[in-house]
Order: sequence, then structure tokens, then C-alpha cells
Amino acid sequence: MAGTARAAVKTTCAYCGVGCGMLASVADDGTVQIAGDPTHPANHGRLCAKGASLGETLSHEGRLLTPMIDGRASSWETALSTVAERFSATIVRHGPESVAFYVSGQLSTEEYYVANKLMKGYIGAANIDTNSRLCMASSVAGHKRAFGEDVVPGVYADLELADLVVLIGSNLAWCHPVLHQRLLAARARRGTRIVVIDPRATATTLDADLHLALAPGSDVALFNGLLNFLHDAGLCAQGYIAAHTRDFAPALRCAQDYDVETVSDITGLSRQDLMQFYHWFAAHERTVSAYSQGVNQSRAGTDKVNAIINCHLATARIGQPGAGPLSLTGQPNAMGGREVGGMANTLAAHREFEEPGAGAKLQSFWRSPRMATRPGLKAVEMFEALGDGRIKALWIMATNPLVSLPDSAAVANALAKCPFVVVSDLSAESDTARAAHVLLPAAGWGEKDGTVTNSERRISRQRAFVAAPGLAKPDWWMVCEVAKRMGYREAFDYAGPVDILREHAALTALDGTRVLDLGALALLDEQTYRDLAPAQWPLPAGCLTRVERRLFGDGCFAHDDGRARFIATPHLAPQAKVDAVHPLVLNSGRIRDQWHTMTRSGRVARLATHIAEPYVEIHPRDAAARGLADAELATLARDRQSLIARVLITTRQAPGSVFVPLHFSAANASRALVNALVPAVTDPISGQPESKAATIALTRYAAAWYGFAVSRTEFTPDCEYWARMRCKHGWRIECADARADPALERYFAHLGEEPAGVERVVMRDDARGAYRCLVLQDGQLQAALYIAREPVAVARNWVAGQLGAAISVDLRAALLAGRAAGAQAEQGALICSCRQVGARRICEAVRAGHDSVAAIAAATGAGSQCGGCRIDVQRLIAASLSHAPH
Ligand code: SF4
Repeated sequence: MAGTARAAVKTTCAYCGVGCGMLASVADDGTVQIAGDPTHPANHGRLCAKGASLGETLSHEGRLLTPMIDGRASSWETALSTVAERFSATIVRHGPESVAFYVSGQLSTEEYYVANKLMKGYIGAANIDTNSRLCMASSVAGHKRAFGEDVVPGVYADLELADLVVLIGSNLAWCHPVLHQRLLAARARRGTRIVVIDPRATATTLDADLHLALAPGSDVALFNGLLNFLHDAGLCAQGYIAAHTRDFAPALRCAQDYDVETVSDITGLSRQDLMQFYHWFAAHERTVSAYSQGVNQSRAGTDKVNAIINCHLATARIGQPGAGPLSLTGQPNAMGGREVGGMANTLAAHREFEEPGAGAKLQSFWRSPRMATRPGLKAVEMFEALGDGRIKALWIMATNPLVSLPDSAAVANALAKCPFVVVSDLSAESDTARAAHVLLPAAGWGEKDGTVTNSERRISRQRAFVAAPGLAKPDWWMVCEVAKRMGYREAFDYAGPVDILREHAALTALDGTRVLDLGALALLDEQTYRDLAPAQWPLPAGCLTRVERRLFGDGCFAHDDGRARFIATPHLAPQAKVDAVHPLVLNSGRIRDQWHTMTRSGRVARLATHIAEPYVEIHPRDAAARGLADAELATLARDRQSLIARVLITTRQAPGSVFVPLHFSAANASRALVNALVPAVTDPISGQPESKAATIALTRYAAAWYGFAVSRTEFTPDCEYWARMRCKHGWRIECADARADPALERYFAHLGEEPAGVERVVMRDDARGAYRCLVLQDGQLQAALYIAREPVAVARNWVAGQLGAAISVDLRAALLAGRAAGAQAEQGALICSCRQVGARRICEAVRAGHDSVAAIAAATGAGSQCGGCRIDVQRLIAASLSHAPH
């Protein structure tokens, strides 16, 4: 039971770009409770399951506690000097462009700022790029082309004021759950129409009035068709276009190649559905087009963004209440990184390399000895340069590129070849950290102070409320200490994050030429920084208010002439083409309860009860063609790389394409790295990888046996397929092998010689290939293993819940069977993480007459908080009703 809580600290979520405000309360016993901050404008007190469980990720288990050099613990002084000396020596010998930083949207703005300053202003190269390149670089490039600056014009409240919300390439319900809830609440009040444009059916399409399941990568054609339609229907705002924009004519000429028949051919959508969408868009002045990775992660990502913005410019629907394009970022501080210039192709504070005099102005502000004069290497290029030897020293901060970058085998080779790799992170156990020569222990969320900016330009504080363990330090401190040791003491002698933020803010306000103006933060004192309330930029001097501001509503844009630009955007199909060898398109994305490579969310046992292993969603037709049955395993392959995943047959997936979650890696599965199959194709403008359109082969994995195990101690089975996740008192493991005779007992070898008190209860049926074993110590369950020739059918959550429990004789029988009865019966797969409601309870509620998602929410609570489980609830209702006696 939690102890008495001290006063709550206001902070901001560490996960997605919604940027929810939180109240963190630390009890006397050290446990941390997280609640939504009702005063934060992003979430008004709501949280999703991931955010609500952040307090459970703060354990020190697995944390890197001390600097390490070549696997040996070191002092900070030795580690920092080693990093500074190796970077300095590399620069002297090979030039400034031989070193690089690869940073992260998880860093605070202050951390991003000093890293960018060191690289561009003191090392004098621009080789600093970020994992945000994988997330929203295409939106950045699209904003710059259309508006003249990387500016999101709208605010979240527009989702509540719109009459039509178009969600493009966004599974909002799972990836930005709190915004989804805000949208659904508004829809309940005012009947908002929702159109979802996504090749697959998701939790978000459940609430759509129209789901356009278009062919992967055909969004540009769809929106060109819309522009063409709007023009033909006489619905373009000609006065606005003439007064506030340029280049409408070439964009329209391009769009005129896309009549409805052509769009139908390219997208695979029916003419009727297309016309429905086009008429709705035309009819609703208050339309928001919100888009995310499905748009950005494409070799035509920038054009997709501009094709969407073109339609908003043509109808003068920008920066108006309830109207405008809205880029939804994945990471908590993707936008803060963009503000400081933490991308290789911008300078700092929204100043560009191409701007005459911008570099000199920046150099004078920083009083720096040298300046980067040309863009550096974007993420994929950076790791290519690592592979071919151009980059000889690399510092990776708070990210796991071995898992998240495309062509992961090439990334692994490149990292292995690099003479000097520094990784600053929370843990030494990530795939990337294992490749480091120097490991620096980083302070994490809740342990350090800083600011982050969410998708609606709102700057919020992340506050420290627990001490960092061991010798862990914030990244801003490490960067500054290394910079001092490289000879730049004066320029990096900051007293703390507020000092850095003041400098960043002053830079943004240097000459009043940028929309990004944080002048009001340039004179912050310690106390004001401590108390800083969430505020949206621009925040010019004297204007530290909380007023919600849309931008560009007056038709004045950030280009020199004040006019927005239309961009001609011809359709470009994904580069990979299906053929006889690679007949399926591979889509990837997030699952509801996990985040990125699970280094944080994977610590929370209850989040693992939703989905606990890699899976592949496949249409019944494609499954049948390959002889696949539900819950079997499949091998997905391309270019000598492969992964193994559990088969989930569903009509949510369109024929010809499959979906695999992106979270799994060597840290938690034998072969599950989706980026191993994704070639390093990028958008030529944004540099963002085409992560959602690889082509692959898929075959049935011929398992000789399948297994499921739970164990108090972590272990890795010696078999071809395994996937391991936490459960409350240990670990749960799925496993399988194509080799027969798995020598089953060896899976418990990790328990060592039989110590006193250990008892094994074995049930074996060689004729049926079944083997079940319980390991008890002093009457408590230490481990259980279930092997079968078919996919193992046991009540997984219930079995996992017995770990550490005293096992009676009756319970032994139930455990061997893998199922409990009566009051002990398990609640089934966990459907609602927020309210901890399992499938069994929902099915019982359906049988009691609660036959809608809303009725189930009222009866059980499932789906009533973040709403991410509503699609699962609906599925259960449908399944229960179809099995009900008539
Ligand atoms: Fe955190 Fe995003 Fe969930 Fe909000 S919606 S609690 S920011 S993960």
C-alpha cells in the first residue's frame, strides 16, 4: 500500500506530443502517484494508460548508475575528459564534419539547445540530427515551404470547434489518446463529422463517419483530387488566394491531372466515397485536417503535407477557430528540438542556412569561434557516413537508433565500425547502448528540470520530483562539461536550465523577424522558471500570458512577402513495388500501451497485459493463401533479414498489406525488429524515411512446438522464437522452435541446481507433444512452462498472476491445466488498461444486456478513460453477440 503522499509537483508527460500536464506525488515510502493536471490546457486532467503509469517506470532497476568506459566503471571526470579529448582529437585530425551528435525528442529544450550550440557554433559543423527526423521532419519541411517557417497554425481546441475533422495517417485513439478523447467529447456535444484516411482499420476508424482505406502512399493524389474538385465547384476562396498566397496556378495545374476517376484508380477508393469526402470538406468551413506519421513517413511525405495545406489555403481555412491543418508530433519535445535548431538542416531559433547573414548573426550572438556554414547529415545520411568512415566519433543521446532507424542491419554495422561511440541514456541494456565505448548515466523524467513544447506550440515545464540514482546527471550538464573540456568554458558555463532557456529565448527575439519569438522568457528569474505555467508561443517580450493563440489567421505568413505558397505536388508512389518475391506491403506503427522501443513503458507490468509479443495483422485472404491459422507464427523476410511474429488474421488489414508493431527489439524478442525489413529510402526534401511501405515475403513459420512460460527471474530460452515481457512478479515468455525435441527441462536450467525446497510438478503426454511443468519453492510458484504442438491455449494473465503465490494442491491442478475455475477464473486478456477491465467481465456485461461501447463503459468502466480500448470492446461485443443463443 502506498504511503502518505507529499504535495504534488506539476510536470509534463514523458511520452507523446500531446504534452499532457500531470501531478506527481511522492509518498513517504518512495512510491509515485500520477494524476492528470486539471489546470493544464492540453489535457484538462485527462491521461492515457501510458501516462497514468509513468510513476511505475521510476524504479532504479536496470539503471546505468555510473559512467562506463569500455565496460568498466569510471569517474565522471575521466569519462568527460575522455569524450572531450576523443572528439577534439578527431576534429583536429579529420575536421569538424568527422564528428556527430544523434539526439532525441525526449530531451528537454535546454538540453537540445546546448547540444546544437556546441555542434554548430563551436565544433563548426551541422552534424546534429534527431530521432524526430523519423517522426515529423516532413511536416517541418511542408510548413517551411507553405508558410515560410516551421509553424503549426492551429491549437488543440480546434478539434473541439470543428464541424469536420479529417484524420490522415493517424491512429489518434492509440497514439494521441487524450486528443482523441477531447475530439469524441466534442463530437458528443456538437455532432462533429470524422473522416479517417488510413490504409487499415484501427481503433480510430471505429468512430469515423467515413473511413477511406486508401492504397499505401496515395494521399497526395487524394488531396490533389480535392483541390481540383474545390476549384471545379467554384469553392476556392479566390479573394484570399489573390491577397495572401502565391503559386496557386501551378499547384492547380498539377492538381487538374487528378480527376475523380484518376484518384479512384490511384487510391483504390470508390468514386462514391471520394465524392462523399470531397463534398463534406467543401461543405464544412470549420474543418481540421490532423495528420501524423502515416503522412510524414514517406518518400513523398513533404508533398503529402503540402497537398493537405494546399486545400486549406485554397479555402482560407488556416488559423481560424475550428479550421486548419494540424501536425501531430509523436514525441514529447519534437517541437522544442525544432525551436532550437536540433536538426541538421537548420541553424537555430528557426533560422536557416539559406538565409543571407543568418550564420553571422548567430555567430555574433554566441560569440563563437566558428560556425557551421552548410547543412549537416540527416539521420539516415549520418549513419551511412558512420558506415563509410566519414563520421569517426558519435554521441547518441536518449535514443535507440539501432531499433528505430531503417535498415537496422546497416545501422548495426555502422555503429560497430565507428571508432568512438558515446551513449548517454538511462540504461546500459538498450541495443544501442551495447555498442557504446563510453556510457554516460543520464537523469530521466522526474529527475531533472526542463521545458518541452507540445504539438500546439505550448511550452510546459518538466520538473524534478525524485533524486537521480547513482551518479546520473542531466544531458545538458554532460554536454556543457564536455564543451568546457574542449576549451569552451565561458560559453557553456550555465548555472542551470533556466540560464540556458533565457539564452535560447533571447536568441529567438534577436531581431523580431521570426514567428518563433520567446522574448518574454529571456528575463525569467529562477522563481518564475520554477512556477512557469504552460504557455503557447509566440511569447514576445512582456507577453508571458496563457492566451491560446492561432497563427496566420490574418493571412500574413512568414515568407518575406508575407504570402503563403501553394506547392505543386505530383503523386509519387512508394519506392518499393510488390513482386512475386515480395508480394506484401509492410506497414508498422505503435500499439496502444507501449512507447517507442519500450525502454520505459516496458517496465510497467500492467501495460504488457494488453499485447505481450510481436504480431502481424494479415487479411484472411492473404493468410489462407499461405496456410496460416490465427495464433500461429509467421516469418516476414526481405533481403536476408527476417522477423517472426504471431499471426492475427483480421479484415481490419487490407488484402496485400500487413501491419507489425514497431516496439520490439533484441532486448525483448529473438527476431522482431521491424526496421530490419525497411530499406533506407527517404524523402529527398525532409530526409524522413519511408517507414510504412516496405515490401516483404511472408511464410508460415513451421513450429514443431509452441511454448508459454512465466518465471520469477528473467531468462532467455534457447530457441528460435521467443518474446519476453514483464508481469507483476516476474516475466512472461512466448517461445517456439521449428526443431523438434526441445529438451524441455533446459528451459528451467536458469533455476540452477535443485536447492532445498524446490519441487517440480510435471505433466507429460509424449503422444500429444504436451508438456507442463510447475516449479515451486517453499510452496510458492517460481515458474511454469506449457509446451504444445499447437499454439498454447492457457489463461496467460491468470497464470502470470500466480507467480510468487502460495499454491494449494487444488491450485496445482488448475495451474497444470492453465485455467482457473469459479471465482478464481481469470478476467481474460486485459482490455482496458486504465480501469483494469478484462475480457471476461466485458463479455459478462454483454450477456447482461449491455450491448454497446457506451453501455459497457457505464457498466464496467472499460473505455471510459483514455478510450484506446474501445475498438477491443466493440470486437468483444460483436463476438459475444454472434455466439449468443438465438
Ligand atoms: Fe502522455 Fe500522450 Fe498519454 Fe497524454 S496522451 S498522457 S502526453 S502519452
